[in-house]
Amino acid sequence: VAKRLEKFKTTIFTQMSILAVKHGAINLGQGFPNFDGPDFVKEAAIQAIKDGKNQYARGYGIPQLNSAIAARFREDTGLVVDPEKEVTVTSGCTEAIAAAMLGLINPGDEVILFAPFYDSYEATLSMAGAKVKGITLRPPDFSIPLEELKAAVTNKTRAILMNTPHNPTGKMFTREELETIASLCIENDVLVFSDEVYDKLAFEMDHISIASLPGMYERTVTMNSLGKTFSLTGWKIGWAIAPPHLTWGVRQAHSYLTFATSTPAQWAAVAALKAPESYFKELKRDYNVKKETLVKGLKEVGFTVFPSSGTYFVVADHTPFGMENDVAFCEYLIEEVGVVAIPTSVFYLNPEEGKNLVRFAFCKDEETLRGAIERMKQKL
Ligand code: GLN
Repeated sequence: VAKRLEKFKTTIFTQMSILAVKHGAINLGQGFPNFDGPDFVKEAAIQAIKDGKNQYARGYGIPQLNSAIAARFREDTGLVVDPEKEVTVTSGCTEAIAAAMLGLINPGDEVILFAPFYDSYEATLSMAGAKVKGITLRPPDFSIPLEELKAAVTNKTRAILMNTPHNPTGKMFTREELETIASLCIENDVLVFSDEVYDKLAFEMDHISIASLPGMYERTVTMNSLGKTFSLTGWKIGWAIAPPHLTWGVRQAHSYLTFATSTPAQWAAVAALKAPESYFKELKRDYNVKKETLVKGLKEVGFTVFPSSGTYFVVADHTPFGMENDVAFCEYLIEEVGVVAIPTSVFYLNPEEGKNLVRFAFCKDEETLRGAIERMKQKL
């Protein structure tokens, strides 16, 4: 394997989902819903296939989807963007992240990210040859250590990579935190790459896109996807929204990574993004119930559970159960209890920092959540 990927292992999500199947364990690990997205979206994909929308799409997205994304962004943030020049459709947000890194970062550029972080960030930064600086968000509230962040931003910093609502902790960046990031970026001429795939799963406060802060749109790549909002994680429809000079970089990388993404799924995404407001309300309401079921259950089992304001994840401290670290705990949980969680140490530059924490996903039906809690109550 090439040096730039030498230190990375099989992704934890792949590892854990394989173990889940092998041990017949209930999978609260990898973040995919065990229910499907809405029928009207599935129907739209079937119709698109039947209608012969099956050849390569325009590289940066079918025009209708670029427009639907711009319209949704306007509704969500108030920002008016040109769908033709500022929106790029990618194969999931993971590709948008890679395209932003590869298209806008030079080898040796410094990029700041917040740990714990979604594992692809570090790997794609490594592919881009970036120098990574981590800022650790710590329990119980995982707030941003603003003084530490200020000290980390220098004239060598090219970009800050952030994610709100935040995987794995469920933390949502507050307005004050976002304003601090914004002023640091403006002062030091730094870009922001903002992964907002859980924006519609914001429970305790309103999601704020950093691009909507004064002076920020021109230096921000906002990335999102269809997967979480429409419970269709396997469709891999994502996008990046950025001013033309940044979109150019993203598109250049995207053109040579995947060129275009699935045509019928793009047509269905157009239908999805036109969903009535009631769809998003109901989604949030359903997820709130699931979250309560899981959080209450985990507390009854004996975990210390940290509050999650958004996403479909919660992080818990497993140390009451006496295991050596998060990986050992998760192995025990799969093999002896029959439940899969994600050890968080893989989400840190220094794995030690995550050794007490495990992540549970609640994007599962009630029966699954209750089944997992029952197993833990009996066997932990
Ligand atoms: N984003 C999903 C999660 O955090 C997993 C994506 C993946 O499997 N690579 O669980």
